[in-house]
Amino acid sequence: MGKVLIIGAGGVSQVTTWKCAMLPEVFEEICLASRTKAKCDKIAQMLPRPIRTAQVDADNVEETVALIKDFQPDLVVNLALPYQDLSIMDACLATGVDYLDTANYEPPDTAKFEYSWQWAYHDRFKDKGIMALLGSGFDPGVTSVMTMHALKHHFDEIHNLDIIDCNAGSHGMPFATNFNPEINIREVTAKGRYWENGQWIETEPLSVKREFELPENLGTMNIYLMYHEELESLAKFVPGLKRARFWMSFSDNYLKHLEVLQNVGMTGIEPVNFNGQEIIPLQFLKALLPDPASLGPLTKGHTCIGVMVEGIKDGKPRKYYIYNICDHQACYAEVKSQAISYTTGVPAMIGAKLMLTGAWRGQGVFNMEEFDPDPFMADLNQFGLPWKEVFMEGFDK
Ligand code: NDP
Repeated sequence: MGKVLIIGAGGVSQVTTWKCAMLPEVFEEICLASRTKAKCDKIAQMLPRPIRTAQVDADNVEETVALIKDFQPDLVVNLALPYQDLSIMDACLATGVDYLDTANYEPPDTAKFEYSWQWAYHDRFKDKGIMALLGSGFDPGVTSVMTMHALKHHFDEIHNLDIIDCNAGSHGMPFATNFNPEINIREVTAKGRYWENGQWIETEPLSVKREFELPENLGTMNIYLMYHEELESLAKFVPGLKRARFWMSFSDNYLKHLEVLQNVGMTGIEPVNFNGQEIIPLQFLKALLPDPASLGPLTKGHTCIGVMVEGIKDGKPRKYYIYNICDHQACYAEVKSQAISYTTGVPAMIGAKLMLTGAWRGQGVFNMEEFDPDPFMADLNQFGLPWKEVFMEGFDK
């Protein structure tokens, strides 16, 4: 049905490429390209069928354009880092090819992520007759579609949203991040922000804490209010939304290490002169920390990510929770990866599939909230991320 060029060969890419390779009727040909070709070749060796691999520096638009012209994909799936979003979108514009990513653009020198830069491409993508799908991971991605599923099937109005991302798994290492350490630590050390009554309210980093009882006897975890990019698109696309917050679980051990690293300046993104060489502390820290991909065989337990929704149905208040539980070891058995990469990599494949099959189509730049949630929700069940929904007690069902 189509040819896909996947850029980036990290943890998420391994899962997406594997899942695409398992679906030859949709992804007829696959090219996996990244800065370090050896990483593409390593992934290629694990797959059930042959794919092409290539070297590309996606910061360089001409290089990416040359690769696109050579391979002639129908779609480029960007699984490099958020820093590359705009240069890959430029390459797609230059060649007239569709685009998909899992994280919004972030300038390397400012810890600030928002959709404005990518939304600004809408008219150019529309004029070119091509489509960009932004944020097709789990959060953003699945959480956005879960919300639209709730709105379509269970609510007349949604008032309050709480996205809750818990990792009840453990890798047994003293300190490690589950995905790219630089992106992860930039996100966690940023100020919190949530949407209430039409405006953004800012909180100090990790200063708002709650306890959350996970479903299916997975225990109770501390969750912390953070800013996350889907809040921006949900505030735009869910009519009548009064409040939207994002929460993530952290263990006391993770927070203890993070506090010390922050206090000694190791999480900074300003260059520091060391022995005549400029280094960015956070990038140096990334070089010291375990590669998230190495955590795959070590990680046990589950992730549980979902959305708590409050609103109105048929004039009565309703409270509802929709979630996915993912088992780290089951993911490793399937695609040699832990659940954090799995829960991002599978939705990226599903978004790509819906674009290639025409189930989700448009001209311009789109967020996940803008399409019919039904085919995406059905594919989650089919391709490894089954979801459940609960109507909370004391509220109308
Ligand atoms: P990794 O760091 O494991 O992988 C990133 C890959 O991109 C590496 O192979 C890296 O190459 C490559 N890369 C970096 N810069 C370039 C460049 N200039 N040109 C070509 N390739 C490049 O990250 P993850 O797999 O953990 O994350 C991938 C993306 O998914 C990120 O954008 C992340 O923010 C996003 N994400 C989204 C989530 C969601 O739920 N929506 C959750 C988790 C992640 P090299 O190895 O040579 O450095």
